[in-house]
Amino acid sequence: MLGPVILAASRSDKMRRFVSAAPGTKQVVARFIAGETVDDVVPIVRDLSERGLEVTLDVVGEDITAVEQSYAARDAYLELIGRLKELGLGERAEMSVKLSMFGQSLENGHELALSNVRPVVEAAAEIGTTVTLDAEDHTTLDSMFAIHEELRKDFPQTGCVIQAYLFRTEEDARRLAANGSRVRIVKGAYKEPASVALQDKAEIDKAYVRIMKILMEGEGYPMIGSHDPRLVSIGQELARRAGRKLDEYEFQMLYGIRTEEQNRLAAEGHRMRVYTAYGTDWYGYFMRRLAEKPANLLFFVRSILTK
Ligand code: FAD
Repeated sequence: MLGPVILAASRSDKMRRFVSAAPGTKQVVARFIAGETVDDVVPIVRDLSERGLEVTLDVVGEDITAVEQSYAARDAYLELIGRLKELGLGERAEMSVKLSMFGQSLENGHELALSNVRPVVEAAAEIGTTVTLDAEDHTTLDSMFAIHEELRKDFPQTGCVIQAYLFRTEEDARRLAANGSRVRIVKGAYKEPASVALQDKAEIDKAYVRIMKILMEGEGYPMIGSHDPRLVSIGQELARRAGRKLDEYEFQMLYGIRTEEQNRLAAEGHRMRVYTAYGTDWYGYFMRRLAEKPANLLFFVRSILTK
């Protein structure tokens, strides 16, 4: 019940101001956001890597309102790539980007986002790594998939994300599996209407399994983005049945969530990538994490009240 309300609040400027200023917020945000600057996140990447984990780095931000912000987003990723070069982790440290942060929703947004993300993908390739395009709300996806296809002409390793809750996704999965893409499958984190998306959790889980099967049996590289223990073990079984070796798919989880499970999967020899978000514009990302688990909201409210 609470999830949709929190997701609606994640798009409200009034709530953004309230939550950002509330005492106690910082402490809760720190559980999910790995710091505000590149200097904060680099030691975390090093530590995760030393523990056998891989990372995908997200400079938080979305829904910008001015072109200059899209250039700033591009530059923030270029700065990050400069620092990743020093670490020499290659594809063990890749990046995730939200095209809305690269200007996708502004005037001529499709072209603007493509022109901003291309130099990031190029710079990533130069240091032996890659970029995955996150999936945002359903209205942005045709543009995201078109940008993904365009980038893959020169950089076939460019990945994208598909969301199990959307009716369109099985068809997207078949297309992407046939053309050999790197594809992250997730349940979906946005507030979507019943006209485009499943609303029932059990139905979303069933769709997730069908889509994992398509990806595992296909030609691409499946990335299983979930903390759900049932889906993780079904993913392992589907990979085994499809004859995939341990380096022919990977699991992904978010920084700060089910850390022991992340360590366990890595210790078993799985590729386990931690989606590590950092930056100052954390509001939207943070609110989606609250919406996913009511206990997070309780913890947040308690920490405000006790400050
Ligand atoms: P759930 O059924 O939600 O959770 C299973 C269990 O995991 C819960 O019972 C709980 O123990 C734990 N858990 C899950 N979420 C939380 C949380 N916030 N706090 C504490 N515990 C939690 N969504 C998009 O729409 N677009 C994207 O590009 C995208 N990228 C993602 C990348 C990665 C690597 C991951 C892991 C998720 C991403 N998501 C994205 C979010 C995703 O859509 C889900 O909202 C999120 O993963 C929760 O679903 P779940 O599969 O973990 O299952």
